[in-house]
Amino acid sequence: MKELYVIATSNPGKVKEFANQLGSDFYEIKSLSDIGFNEKIEETGSSFQENASIKANAVCEFLEKKGIVATVIADDSGLEVEALDGAPGVYSARYAGDDASDQENYELLLSRLKGNLNRNARFVCVLCVQKVNESPIYFEGECKGIIIETPRGSEGFGYDPIFIPESNDRTFAEMTIAEKKALSHRGHAIKKLIEALKLSPN
Ligand code: IMP
Repeated sequence: MKELYVIATSNPGKVKEFANQLGSDFYEIKSLSDIGFNEKIEETGSSFQENASIKANAVCEFLEKKGIVATVIADDSGLEVEALDGAPGVYSARYAGDDASDQENYELLLSRLKGNLNRNARFVCVLCVQKVNESPIYFEGECKGIIIETPRGSEGFGYDPIFIPESNDRTFAEMTIAEKKALSHRGHAIKKLIEALKLSPN
């Protein structure tokens, strides 16, 4: 039987990137909706690591109750902008309010950066890998780049249309999923996870 991995996120953009990078004939990847987890997890931590741990624990509790044997991979990530003292950071998903859309979030960011010549930013991703009653393992990835003034591209999610990674001239939203994973914070963190856990992706 294939080993089961549950990606602890309800963000379809993240699920797509995990499935693309971890896809394998040797194990099965499921999202929260695939396992029937519909609760909202309150991200009350003040760091990416704390929030990744909160998500992993909530899903492990659910798996234990349901008697499902799986490894949980929780992702907490966000964008840190130098000129905004690291904001939106852990608040990236709800920068313009609890139910804000991706577009509302990046438009607010662009308005706060208007006229600012310092466009430096970085994406951060912390993964928490956890099995029921076992200690968590963390993997981190980052991607430095700049925030442009006018959004470009329609791929990806979140702040992708306004972020150009270092040494590139296209935004993440103008790249294929394969191009993004080679450069992104999440791509780097998943690569570390694959190496440490000796997984065999396709
Ligand atoms: P989380 O669910 O609290 O980890 O929310 C992460 C938020 O950070 C997302 O909703 C996006 O707004 C932003 N974010 C994280 N990773 C990316 C990415 O790869 N591209 C664009 N935005 C991202």
